[in-house]
Amino acid sequence: MEKIRKLKKYYNNINIELTDRQAEQLLQFYSLTLEWNERMNLTAIVEEDEFFLKHFIDSSLLAGCLDMNGVESLLDLGTGAGFPGIPLKILFPSLQVVLVDALNKRVQYLAMACDSLGLEGVVCIHGRAEDLGHDTLYRERFDLCVSRAVSELPVLVEYCVPFVKIGGSFVAYKSKDVRKEVEMAENAASLLGARLKAVHEERIPETEILRTFVEYEKTGPTPDKYPRKSGKPSKKPL
Ligand code: SAM
Repeated sequence: MEKIRKLKKYYNNINIELTDRQAEQLLQFYSLTLEWNERMNLTAIVEEDEFFLKHFIDSSLLAGCLDMNGVESLLDLGTGAGFPGIPLKILFPSLQVVLVDALNKRVQYLAMACDSLGLEGVVCIHGRAEDLGHDTLYRERFDLCVSRAVSELPVLVEYCVPFVKIGGSFVAYKSKDVRKEVEMAENAASLLGARLKAVHEERIPETEILRTFVEYEKTGPTPDKYPRKSGKPSKKPL
């Protein structure tokens, strides 16, 4: 009960009113993560408050700067232990969510976790962005693609923009002054059919941690040659 109250208070601080069900699902996800963290490397953050703030609240800050109305489908690229995809799915239960990661063990764990949380409309896919970005099941199918702590922007743009529908968005979770990174990604964005729309900065309440969201709008189709072969985007960023 105490934990539910605490979680609701943290969410109130970012203007989100959690239902009991949402708070329970988040708590259950926290417990599952801790339990499975003993068997596989999921996260270095295990202390309760730190986990709530740095994983749940951080993932959810996006809702304060992006209009989620009209977003029906979301792909989280390099989701790892489910961030930010799982908290976003819990907050917006009608979202159709695809969680992608290159590490099969994590993907298998996430499928089990979604099942035990009773989350419907989540598909967990093992694969690399460079391959899945050419698969017609995923290419240009999503209203929104998000990614946290996966790579530098020029690489991320090549990984993520191919998944986005024309008119949809790609939002990168970044943590420092991103001006230089944004400039370096200009070429990639224009080659992939996207344009920078906005940079939003949010602070995780009760901390000094700043989260920067870099938002791109997909303005035209991604040419067939992108993303390039596995490993190429990170070795030779556009
Ligand atoms: N997004 C999570 C978070 O913020 O906690 C996990 C971040 S973890 C540092 C990076 C994850 O990205 C890893 O789980 C890794 O397997 C995945 N990843 C890296 N490159 C990838 C690629 N090209 N395609 C798919 N997943 C990738």
